[in-house]
Amino acid sequence: MLQLKNLRKSYHVGDSVTHALDDVSISFRNQEFVAILGPSGSGKTTMLNVIGGLDRYDSGDLIINGKSTKNFKETDWDAYRNNSVGFVFQNYNLISHLSIIANVELGMNLSGVPASERRKRAIDALTEVGLKDHISKNPNQLSGGQMQRVAIARALANDPDILLCDEPTGALDTETSVQIMKLIKKLSKDRLVVMVTHNSDLAKEYASRIVNFQDGKILNDSNPFTPDNEK
Ligand code: ADP
Ligand code: ADP
Repeated sequence: MLQLKNLRKSYHVGDSVTHALDDVSISFRNQEFVAILGPSGSGKTTMLNVIGGLDRYDSGDLIINGKSTKNFKETDWDAYRNNSVGFVFQNYNLISHLSIIANVELGMNLSGVPASERRKRAIDALTEVGLKDHISKNPNQLSGGQMQRVAIARALANDPDILLCDEPTGALDTETSVQIMKLIKKLSKDRLVVMVTHNSDLAKEYASRIVNFQDGKILNDSNPFTPDNEK
């Protein structure tokens, strides 16, 4: 379970300060599909990066499975990021000169999975996203939707508890976007999925919870959650 408590994160550029996350409190369930909507610049990506351990918050707390991260060292953040979180981006971030299976195996390099185990897990993940028959191709032989499936397989290879998706359908046509949404929804049966998107129609159809951001704050939350320790 993931909990943000009075979280703040500001960016300082010259004399100006942007409060990208301005006292944000929200709790996520272990298995749900949360869509984060809101105008450009409202803090969506900043929140995704903070909860994924890519970026540090200034104050407040991020609580992971009941544990405060206030005293986390960089090695703790590395372990969390490598073992508990998978990331999916708009532009897939695949390595074009490596085969699909090698791209997925790369996702495990930092997590201490033995080489012998990596291939098996990569095949399992590619099977889960429906690409078992394409594993020795290169990314440039695939469609956009297939490339995003590879990126999702890479994110899944460590079996993360949390899958974070930043505009996963931003570069895809409508029909392909629907297929990717269905896949992400299926994956949220086994883990928390938090997805930033501009596509509110798809979010409303497939996500179990819609959270709207504005100016670094939560404007509304369709399905709020209060964990037992807060009641
Ligand atoms: P969104 O994802 O909703 O578009 P972001 O989280 O990317 O919003 O950005 C929130 C605010 O923080 C914006 O005003 C943005 O310009 C600012 N911001 C984000 N990243 C940085 C950065 N690395 N340096 C300075 N300002 C940033
Ligand atoms: P999105 O709108 O999809 O969230 P952005 O284009 O706002 O993405 O941001 C892309 C990247 O640029 C992010 O890593 C963010 O941290 C960085 N960024 C955003 N705004 C600024 C800014 N004002 N100054 C520096 N970096 C920024």
